[in-house]
Amino acid sequence: MGKLDWIMEELKELKEKGLYITIRVLETAQGPWVVVNGKRVLNMCSNNYLGLAAHPKIKEAAIRAILDYGVGAGAVRTIAGTMELHIELEERLAKFKKREAAILFQSGYNANLGALGALIRKGENGVFVSEELNHASIIDGMRLSGAPKVIYKHIDMEDLKKKLQEVKDVKKKLIVTDGVFSMDGDLAPLPEIVELAQKYDAMVYVDDAHGEGVLGDHGRGIVDHFKLHDEVDFEMGTLSKAFGVIGGYVAGNEEAIEYLRQRARPFLFSSALNPPDVGAAIAAVEILQKSDELVKKLWDNTHFLQRGLRDLGYDLGNTKHPITPVMLYDEKLAQEFSRRLFEEYNIFAQAIVYPTVPLGTARIRLEPSAAHTKEDLKYVIDAFEDLGKKTGFLK
Ligand SMILES: *Cc1c(COP(=O)(O)O)cnc(C)c1O
Repeated sequence: MGKLDWIMEELKELKEKGLYITIRVLETAQGPWVVVNGKRVLNMCSNNYLGLAAHPKIKEAAIRAILDYGVGAGAVRTIAGTMELHIELEERLAKFKKREAAILFQSGYNANLGALGALIRKGENGVFVSEELNHASIIDGMRLSGAPKVIYKHIDMEDLKKKLQEVKDVKKKLIVTDGVFSMDGDLAPLPEIVELAQKYDAMVYVDDAHGEGVLGDHGRGIVDHFKLHDEVDFEMGTLSKAFGVIGGYVAGNEEAIEYLRQRARPFLFSSALNPPDVGAAIAAVEILQKSDELVKKLWDNTHFLQRGLRDLGYDLGNTKHPITPVMLYDEKLAQEFSRRLFEEYNIFAQAIVYPTVPLGTARIRLEPSAAHTKEDLKYVIDAFEDLGKKTGFLK
């Protein structure tokens, strides 16, 4: 027996349980059509909502930043890693989000780790009040903090109220929620959350990873969508989805952001974002500031795709977002759909099954983007009609 044999065992077990992840490799840039395993396929499963990941202006901005500032930032932000580019992006993000200030992180994951790890600390009189379906990075941020948490049921405001009541005597309370839930495309009921937060004197933290570039005026996100800028204390976002680059941030009032600069561990202990990423992100924010054309195109495409699928009889759940869960319920059928879409129709779309979602709620998750054409999406609708009939799912 070798001392690493347990790894083989674990991998075998993952395969047996159907939880083994096979990684598909893209041979081209991110976009509406990509080459995967030597095959040109229609990409319906990336978060590149606005098609910015390989947009000419973004590429140019990255190259310009390399020429001016080099490739590496060279240090953590608090030592020698803060360049004027980082400050410019933070100022532009704050302005875009209509907040006083913003702090950058290396990713959205790090933003949640950094902010949640610092906002409530172990041993103090504080508690997280966390939504049941929050993203893994929120869960890890709360773990990093080590402070206690109570979990409220998905979208259930009665339960949130109950949980707030249970912790009403705790001095520092932070309600934390995803803005858009990534498996269903449904939205957190922020107006109600904010009202309860005021009643119970709790802070509010929203993860806007999927709202960014999609919801609100010019894609300013879910807080803008509900016009709650003064009521939500912390808006966390990512630069890796609609913005098409990499990086994360938290926006809020000046003192709150200054506190995170002093306390957030990934800000203090992991090197700054690279100049090309920052340059590219600045260009992405600039594109959205100037025009809402891409956001409108995204929504136009979303409505077209979702209407087409609903007309065929597919259940898309409660989505209010380009995230389009095509409900197939059965785990095996969802896997079969994904495989056959790829093999027979050249459509790259992911099956989402247990344990990512509850048993019996398996689905194909489609993500249209502003870069798709109507022909692309019509092709997807036709494929779902054809395959739905072939499998007997559609009558
Ligand atoms: C993708 C995602 C993140 C992580 O963002 P990255 O920039 O990819 O690290 C955090 N929260 C939610 C809800 C997400 O969907």
